Amino acid sequence: MPTFRLLDIDLTTGTTRVSDVSDRFEKYLGGTGVATSLLLETPAGLDPLAPEAPVIFAIGPFSAVFPVVTKTVALFKSPLTGNLGESHAGGRLAMAMYGAGFHVIRLTGRAAFPCYVTVDEDRVEVHRAHSLWGSSALAAERILRDHEPSSFKRSIVRIGPAGERCSPIAAATVDSSRHFGRLGLGGVMGSKNLKALVVSGGRYWPVTEKGKYNAFYQKIYEAVVNSPAMKKYHDLGTAMNVMPLSRINGLPTRNFSQGFFEGAADISGETFAEKHLTQHLACGHCQTGCIHMATLRERFDPEEHQYKTFKISYDHELVYAFGSNLSIQNPEEVLRLLLQVEKEGWDAMSIGVTLAWAVDAFQAGHLTAKETDGLVLNFGDAATYDKMLHRIKAGHNGFYRDLEKGAVFCAKKYGGQECAIAFGGNEAPGYMTGLFAYLGYATGVRHSHLDSAGYSIDQKVLNEPKPDEELVQGLYKESVWRMALNSLVICLFARNIYTKEAVLEGLAALGLTGWDEARLNATARRIHAMKLRYKERCGFRFDDLALPGKLARVISGNGQVTSERFARQVAAYRDLAAKDAGELPAEYR
Ligand code: SF4
Repeated sequence: MPTFRLLDIDLTTGTTRVSDVSDRFEKYLGGTGVATSLLLETPAGLDPLAPEAPVIFAIGPFSAVFPVVTKTVALFKSPLTGNLGESHAGGRLAMAMYGAGFHVIRLTGRAAFPCYVTVDEDRVEVHRAHSLWGSSALAAERILRDHEPSSFKRSIVRIGPAGERCSPIAAATVDSSRHFGRLGLGGVMGSKNLKALVVSGGRYWPVTEKGKYNAFYQKIYEAVVNSPAMKKYHDLGTAMNVMPLSRINGLPTRNFSQGFFEGAADISGETFAEKHLTQHLACGHCQTGCIHMATLRERFDPEEHQYKTFKISYDHELVYAFGSNLSIQNPEEVLRLLLQVEKEGWDAMSIGVTLAWAVDAFQAGHLTAKETDGLVLNFGDAATYDKMLHRIKAGHNGFYRDLEKGAVFCAKKYGGQECAIAFGGNEAPGYMTGLFAYLGYATGVRHSHLDSAGYSIDQKVLNEPKPDEELVQGLYKESVWRMALNSLVICLFARNIYTKEAVLEGLAALGLTGWDEARLNATARRIHAMKLRYKERCGFRFDDLALPGKLARVISGNGQVTSERFARQVAAYRDLAAKDAGELPAEYR
């Protein structure tokens, strides 16, 4: 295996430095583990938008080496929650970083002018980006593709205007349709005057144990292409979840007022596939190709019959955020709103949930026509959402400028806190299956449904209840094990293929010796404890987590979830985590 290298780029001075971080990979595997160790070296009191606040992109030893190990993890201090910012994206970035010879890229500082950075095997350059500043996230990619041709594997990470405005719910978009969506990476990049990062390279490292490598690769490859679960992702994509969730009362509808959406069939994966699907895409080095693209024609001018065709990716989370949760059942309207989100570069879940809060707050009288400047907010009214998005973009008035600060900020300022459906400050994902979905969002280190998949626990125990105490242990165990998977930065859709045994076999096939199950488990526990330590240093407390008031009143897929029951299980999770605090390396205690 190669030497694992960190590329440091200081945008203030335009200087770079390369260092060998193989020792960190030995300790923390790679990806999120290594990035967490680097983040912990920064002062916790740092403003997330300060020049010194780092953005760390990291991949792992399996990246670009084994199938479906396609993700890159980004770590930063979140301007949305004020603590750990962690987001994962696919596309070609992991492959390009590997090709350029860097497993970690850390950006600090603030450029004196709007810039974009190119990284390849031999050169790192900071370019002026005045002509790109203000361009949409879609246009920026098109322009950079022409400006920065590459015969190697190349990836383009960029922000839209929302990131330039340092919105704490701005995303960074990767290649044609993947995103570092959650927790405000786009805003942090904007604060650095960094419009884009372009990475390319064509390096390969020699494999020493060729026989073992080939055998393991083939085994995983076969498992991926023959797996019924991966086939489902390929066929309908994650939008396949829309109908089953609605059937079990688990699809958030009208700002989590209920879990059954009467229009679910119209925005289901099946309907999108039949009527709008135009292309399947895959992240670099994935055989599944779960990315589903729909086409949308937009008219240039109402007077002229001239159209432009856009391709827009649709996933379950996007369909929930701009479909059921806003009560829109016309897929074209969903796509039209998503196109705006995509161009502006917001996190679709955060902006969608914030719009849904606004409707509830308006109907409860916390907002009036004074704030909305004459707009009447109702669920199902796509034309009004469209106007709202345009007004947010234009900074129409203080209220619209606030909407891109997220639901929690807005609810604190205007009222309707019980209707701000967020956990740990992050707007909720698209499952209202019950207690364990909510617990997963709340207790997860990045407040994501991907931290521990509590929604899946809810579905497993539907009609076969088990004691909460037993299930919370399963939730904790899963969130800890995911530290190992996220340090290898595999796509979590392949989590059942990369079992512990498979991970150990893969490490051995790469000549990374000395790993066994006990060491793997201890490393995962250590990384989890390190993340919690970082969060605590930033002011996070489990005891501050609360169930949004509205969710205690509505019936989830698994029945009613009371605030008391939620708080009890948060405390149980906290206690499990406290036991593992002993795993913290001495320097972080
Ligand atoms: S399964 Fe989908 S998200 Fe995962 S690596 Fe493949 S294409 Fe990307």
